[in-house]
Formats: sequence, structure tokens, C-alpha cells
Amino acid sequence: MPAPQCASCGKARAALRRPRSGQALCGACFCTAFEAEVLHTVVAGRLLPPGAVVAVGASGGKDSTVLAHVLRELAPRLGVSLQLVAVDEGIGGYRDAALAAVRRQAARWELPLTIVAYADLFGGWTMDAVARSTAGSGRSRSCCTFCGVLRRRALEEGARLVGATHVVTGHNADDMAETVLMNFLRGDAGRLARGGGLGSAGEGGALPRCRPLQLASQKEVVLYAHFRRLDYFSEECVYAPEAFRGHARHLLKLLEAARPSAVLDLVHSAERLALAPAARPPPAGACSRCGALASRTLCQACALLDGLDRGRPRLAIGKGRRGRDEVGPAVVAASGTPQEEQQEQVQPPAQKEAVPAVLTF
Ligand code: SF4
Ligand code: ZN
Repeated sequence: MPAPQCASCGKARAALRRPRSGQALCGACFCTAFEAEVLHTVVAGRLLPPGAVVAVGASGGKDSTVLAHVLRELAPRLGVSLQLVAVDEGIGGYRDAALAAVRRQAARWELPLTIVAYADLFGGWTMDAVARSTAGSGRSRSCCTFCGVLRRRALEEGARLVGATHVVTGHNADDMAETVLMNFLRGDAGRLARGGGLGSAGEGGALPRCRPLQLASQKEVVLYAHFRRLDYFSEECVYAPEAFRGHARHLLKLLEAARPSAVLDLVHSAERLALAPAARPPPAGACSRCGALASRTLCQACALLDGLDRGRPRLAIGKGRRGRDEVGPAVVAASGTPQEEQQEQVQPPAQKEAVPAVLTF
């Protein structure tokens, strides 16, 4: 059957059917619609005020590549300026190639790029060194636990370095739905209640953070990258989490097959959750070492680094607490952490993503 005419311009042949609406669009009209939807997310959510200096967390992967490209298109209308901030976790054989992709993007799009390295920020600790130190303790799990906490801190440091007023990350709707599902399955009410919304306002002196792609499906992010011919890095991290997130991802695919709106339904469900007064955490204090918000003497990042420096990483990552494999360490109460103390959502492992074949004519 020949492809129908594009439902928007009526001139070109449609190249895809949008997963949610079923609308048949040509590539150009799809990209325009995708950008308009991100613009609406940012404006309606008042995520980035005019004049904001926006640090885009750039990993070289598809999500942050699409985010940077879309925001570059929207920047004149939003009245914001962009800075790419990349984090070098010190993962041999993986991050170097990913950073090369970020450098190419910065050069092509003429965006300033700053790279901050774990080794410089965290007393010489790289993820490879952390992996050696935590060997035998469930390697991939431990690595992602450390990495998520440290990346959040590193991105904040990099953003401050370039004078940013806001931080944006490329998490899409599927990433968020996986996280919601994981928190449900773990019974982690505290994280569920905090996980809603499009970002955090910046408590305790931290920069405001948001996720402008949070309502965009992964399929459409891949399609946007395809039609805009974006160059991104798609190899899997050598410490890619193979534990719980993989199960949540698989379950989500099954749910989505039965109910196409399952991904967004899960994202929105988290927005509507609120903790009962009795379950609310006590007011947060300040980390005695770095001043960040903390529910204990040390914030998560300082506690992790302290455990590493003392040669006791197992203490820092907890001793087999249920459901703590990819999220915060045992030194912090499971449902009592302030928002700024949350780790950066673990970067889902990059996968070589083919353009969804069923969507193209
Ligand atoms: Fe860090 Fe992501 Fe690699 Fe885990 S998979 S170690 S979170 S880069
Ligand atoms: Zn601290």
C-alpha cells in the first residue's frame, strides 16, 4: 500500500505514523511537531525562564543529543543560552568515544562545551577505580549506584563552572516510566512521591533541574534523531546495569503492547502521588563536608566518597538492603532523602536503536 499524504502539510508522502496519535506525517512535519511539543512542555511547565543560562547534560547518547538539538532550535524563542556540560566518569573504552561524539556536536552546532572529570572532582576516583574497589560486591550494581550519585554532583559542578542558572537532562518518558515502575515494584514510596513533575526547583542552593523530553517517547526521540540525521554514540557502557531496570524495561514493553498509553500513564501517575503526612521525611540539613542538602551528617556523594577513601565501599553502598541496587546508598534513609540528595537517575544503558520499522512506510 503506498504511503498516504502527510496529514499536516498534505504535500509530501508520510514517512511515519506517530505511535500515540496514529497521525501519518512526513519527516519534516514530524520534527516540527516534536519541537513544538518540547516547547510546550518547557513553556507550560515554566521550566526555563527568558535569560536563563542552560547547562545541557551532554553524554553523546541519543537523548542528550536530541535534547541539545531541539533546545538549540528553540533557544531564540525561549530567550535562553545554552552550554554543553559533559561528564567524564573515567570509564576506559567507553566514555572516550562518547565524549568524541559530544565534541563533534559542540563543533557542528557552535555550542560551548565544558567537560568535568570525576578524577578531578573526586580526589582521583574514576569509575574504573571504583569498579576495582567494589569488585566482588555485585560489580555492575555497585558501579551504577556510585555513578548515579557522582554524576549528579559532577553535572552540578560543571553547570556552576560555566555560570549556568539551570540544568537540563535528556531523560525521556520511557526512562521516567521505568523508574516509576521500579519504585513501585520496590515499594519505595518516598522516591515515588518525589519522582513526579518535570524537575526540581533547586532546593538548598542547588541549581533548578528539569527534563524537557520527559513527555516524549523513546521511539519518537529515535525517529527525531533519524530524520534530523543526528550523529550520536550508541554503544553500551561496560558497567551497564543489568539488574532491576532491565526487568522494568521488559515489563514496560509488555504493558505498552497491551496499552499504548502505559508509558505516559505511569509518568503522570507519579505526578499525582503525595506522601501521607506520617510518611514525610524530617526537614533536611546540610552536609557537614560540602554543604549540600543531607538527611544525615554527610550527603550521598560525600558518604560514598568517604566509604571509598576508607576502603569500605560496601559500607557506602549498603549491605544488601532490599531494592537498593541502583538507587541511593544505605547511609541515607530509603524514604527520607530530600530532593536535592537524590542521585541523578541512572543513565539507562545506550542501545543501538534501529528506527522503529513499524512506524515507517
Ligand atoms: Fe554510569 Fe551509566 Fe555506566 Fe552505570 S551504565 S556506570 S550509570 S555510565
Ligand atoms: Zn556532601
